[in-house]
Amino acid sequence: MVQNVVIIGAGPAGLLLAHYLLRRGNYHIDIYERRPDPRLADVSGNRTFPLSLQERGRKAIRAIVGLEEAIAAQSVFCQGTIIYQKKGKSRRLPRQNPVLTIDRNRLVTVLLKQLTETSSPNQVKVHFNCECTAVDGTAKTVIFKPSEGDSFTVHYDLLVGADGARSQIREYLVENAGLPCSQNYVPDAYKSVFLSLLNPNAAVELEPNKIHAWNLNNKTRMVMVPQPGDQLNGVIVFDAETNPLEGLSTKEEVKTFFEENFPLFGQLMSLEEAEALLKRPVARVLTVRCDRFHEGDSVLLIGDAAHAVSPSIGQGCNSSLEDVLILGQLLEQYGDDWGKVLPHFSEQRVPDAHALQELSNYSFPRTKFLMVEFFLRLTMGRLFHRWFPRLVKPFVFDLVLDTDLSYSQVLSLNQGWIHKVKRSMAQNS
Ligand SMILES: Cc1cc2nc3c(=O)[nH]c(=O)nc-3n(C[C@H](O)[C@H](O)[C@H](O)COP(=O)(O)OP(=O)(O)OC[C@H]3O[C@@H](n4cnc5c(N)ncnc54)[C@H](O)[C@@H]3O)c2cc1C
Repeated sequence: MVQNVVIIGAGPAGLLLAHYLLRRGNYHIDIYERRPDPRLADVSGNRTFPLSLQERGRKAIRAIVGLEEAIAAQSVFCQGTIIYQKKGKSRRLPRQNPVLTIDRNRLVTVLLKQLTETSSPNQVKVHFNCECTAVDGTAKTVIFKPSEGDSFTVHYDLLVGADGARSQIREYLVENAGLPCSQNYVPDAYKSVFLSLLNPNAAVELEPNKIHAWNLNNKTRMVMVPQPGDQLNGVIVFDAETNPLEGLSTKEEVKTFFEENFPLFGQLMSLEEAEALLKRPVARVLTVRCDRFHEGDSVLLIGDAAHAVSPSIGQGCNSSLEDVLILGQLLEQYGDDWGKVLPHFSEQRVPDAHALQELSNYSFPRTKFLMVEFFLRLTMGRLFHRWFPRLVKPFVFDLVLDTDLSYSQVLSLNQGWIHKVKRSMAQNS
């Protein structure tokens, strides 16, 4: 029997899940997204940022024929990071395995295009400008408020909350189904920044296959990633309580701020971008920790809706895509019996999500002293792993980025380091 699946959120997790379900053949899928169609919007005009995808995210994408190639065609492969410091010093962090980097909205656009090109509207429909506002789990209905016109109600057999960190579906489960869940804002806030990779007038040209990072102090930093067409997209991250851009009121002041504090990036900033940056809203990151990701046999949470984490080690999207891979395996194993698939999904995925939260919060140190130890451990880990691959595992970052070991396994191999960083943060808070 064909089942009606309603997916809330056309982000990376919701769209990849639609691809997986489409291939199983026995689903009618409706995706509802509160934002407009990204295929019609200008990427640089939106609140978006580059994502880095590694093996665990890419493995999930690879399961759909042609998808990885389509995404790769819109990506830049980065061979490592250059970390700039004041007084022109820089440190290189090479990577053996290149990291695929792609703007979030561009990733979503590719997922959407491939989905609509490989399905008929009888199988999958994507409804933009429709915000989910309420759920009735007993009647199995969802209410939507379109950007124009009256609210309407839709029936579901299976409801998937892929609606991000501020999930409406999770909210429903917390309030009506006793879902244990905690949410916290990370201390950092950010603004997206869009530059050009080169400025011939100032004779500045950044390497096109490196991530460019600049730590101004332990509270303010920029991470900029080359994107197709000589673009350099990224974010400025700062403590939410002390926004360094707050006192600036003109585009000239913004440009001067960047030229003084991040000189290389400042020289790549146009006055138009300085003006746009001034108006762009400050964004906060909400982290989410739930004790299960489902209710009965008909409601499921995936991606950020289930386990949003700090972007410090770039795993939010990777883990969201990995959720879909695991769901696909469970659907195969239990013959699409959602009564079995959903509890097994929670059982398998919740411990990994909790481990990922620890790794995201405490892998990367914030004190100068531990930063030195971090780079030492990273370098030694790589060296000794090359010499004695069976005896020595790489350091935490390389394990997260280059392997598909579960997050729980990575955490248990690095408990000592994670505790050390946690203690140092508690002492400095
Ligand atoms: C600055 C920054 C950098 C990051 N870098 C990385 C990185 O390098 N690597 C990585 O793996 N991850 C990274 N992440 C995390 C990554 O962006 C998220 O984990 C990922 O986007 C989660 O995908 P998702 O589909 O679960 O949710 P989302 O991408 O949040 O998509 C959810 C969708 O649901 C829609 N929606 C929400 N509410 C409703 C509603 N009520 N009705 C209808 N639609 C709704 C939203 O409009 C949205 O389109 C970063 C995050 C930030 C903030």
